[in-house]
Amino acid sequence: MQCSRIRTALSARADGEALPPDVDGPALDAHLAGCPECRRWERQVQRLREFTGSAQEPEPGADGLLAALRAALDGDGETGGAGQGDSRAG
Ligand SMILES: [Zn+2]
Repeated sequence: MQCSRIRTALSARADGEALPPDVDGPALDAHLAGCPECRRWERQVQRLREFTGSAQEPEPGADGLLAALRAALDGDGETGGAGQGDSRAG
C-alpha cells in the first residue's frame, strides 16, 4: 500500500468521511503500525482538525479579541461623514 493512498484515507477518516474503496480501517492501522511517517502525518491532520473544529465553538477569549478588533476598526472612523459628495454640473 502506498503512503499517498494511506494519507488520503487518513484525511478522509479525520474528516469523518468515507474511506476510499481500496482502503479500509484495518489496512490503515496495519500500515500505521509499520510506517512512522504516516503516523506522524496522521497526528498533524488530527491536530489541524482539532484546531479548525475548536474555532467553531464560541471561546470567550477569541470572541472578546474579535469584538475588540471590530470596535477598534469601527470606532476609528468619523461618524456622520456622509453627505459630502459635491457634484458639479457643468
Ligand atoms: Zn506510510
